[in-house]
Amino acid sequence: MSDQPFLSLAGKVALVTGASRGIGRAIARRLAAAGAAVVVHYGSNAEAAEKVVAEITSAGGRALAFPARLDDPAAVRGFWDRLHPLLHATFADGGLDILVNNAGVSVRKTIAEVTEADLDRVLQVNLKAPFLLIQGALPHLRDGGRIINISSMGTRAAYPRMAAYAPSKAGLEALTLLLAADLGPRGITVNAVLPGATATDMNHDARDPITSRAIAATVALRRVGQPDDVADIVLLLASEQGRWITGQRIDASGGQRI
Ligand code: NAP
Repeated sequence: MSDQPFLSLAGKVALVTGASRGIGRAIARRLAAAGAAVVVHYGSNAEAAEKVVAEITSAGGRALAFPARLDDPAAVRGFWDRLHPLLHATFADGGLDILVNNAGVSVRKTIAEVTEADLDRVLQVNLKAPFLLIQGALPHLRDGGRIINISSMGTRAAYPRMAAYAPSKAGLEALTLLLAADLGPRGITVNAVLPGATATDMNHDARDPITSRAIAATVALRRVGQPDDVADIVLLLASEQGRWITGQRIDASGGQRI
């Protein structure tokens, strides 16, 4: 039995990609409220990221904003060279306990509509960037750490307009499974969280009063998701109480299309 306080992340350092808005913002705030020092990564929206940092620090937490365009391969290659000294200077020894690969892009097109540029961008941001960020994190990630990859329930139900998006997330889930085996001996757990329709900038339909009602009819719990619904699941996986869960795809959709 663990004698750790329930869902406490005191003393932990977390990186959440795409934490300026939506689900990533909710995750960053939840992890910080549980005691983690949080790197609020963002792509281009510095104002939104700084606002998240201010929300965390004004509530007594610790956070810093960190920009990197994940659709730019050079920025991904230089990610850890830039972040590591900053981590070292801001949060003690420069180590990392929790990596949440949340940043993502969506292209709502069928296979007939997807361009090669769409495909390259979606695969770059949703699959190649998390792959390389995990690879670069390995020397910094402490034993007993956590990797949590934000996928989508679009990998388990057919949505024809996710022709580029769903395969990018399916690749991330395949990576999750093998990393759980690879990193298990170090006590590092690796899991994927699969949100359903969640009310964010990415999913206008889930924010619109009319279309969200239609989506809610396909959800067992009869509503669309909110960012905090997903963030609470990530908090559990990140905590000591999540230590025995690894290599799993955790649905975070309220039972959408089950
Ligand atoms: P969102 O509101 O659009 O926010 C996306 C976040 O990712 C922002 O912080 C954004 O940074 C960052 N980002 C986007 N493109 C980037 C790039 N090229 N380089 C660096 N950062 C980039 O999205 P969300 O709905 O919260 O989605 C979060 C995750 O959940 C994604 O992986 C998404 O695929 C997944 N998901 C969402 C839903 C849903 O219905 N919303 C459903 C299933 C899965 P900036 O603010 O700087 O642009």
